[in-house]
Amino acid sequence: MNGPAIGNLDEFCAHALAIEREATERYRELAAQMQARHNLLVATFFSRMAELEQEHFDRLRRRFKGVKLPEINPWDYRWRDPESPESAPHEMVHGLMTAHRALHIALENERRAKAFFDELAADAADPAVRAAAAEFALEEAAHIDFVLARIENGAGPGERAAGPAAR
Ligand code: ZN
Repeated sequence: MNGPAIGNLDEFCAHALAIEREATERYRELAAQMQARHNLLVATFFSRMAELEQEHFDRLRRRFKGVKLPEINPWDYRWRDPESPESAPHEMVHGLMTAHRALHIALENERRAKAFFDELAADAADPAVRAAAAEFALEEAAHIDFVLARIENGAGPGERAAGPAAR
């Protein structure tokens, strides 16, 4: 990922917050869409993911309370469609997405988030940024596992054989 230069923990925090906020919003949207398609299994899964991202966002906010966050360009952190990487998924806006596709878009974007933090964990000049990024990369790795497990267990009615239970 061609991430911006991140020189200190405040800048790191601003970017991490933008990523968490974007993920929370997209998961809420996906949950609503799956609900509209009567796929409660995957709707519940996306609602839970939205909560996880929201909790992460809140924790980060508390940790950096009082810090004046630098302005960043939120367009750098829009979720992308793996099939047309420059844009947010078209179906996401128009409500035509299947559960299977929604899960794959989620997977792709969790991977992007992890790659962003991995890169910083390896390359950032400030050791505090490297340490924080490594922590975030771990959390994103867990999100990737959740999405993969949901895909493997089935995407719900009309998609593939449904798994025994929603995670
Ligand atoms: Zn995530």
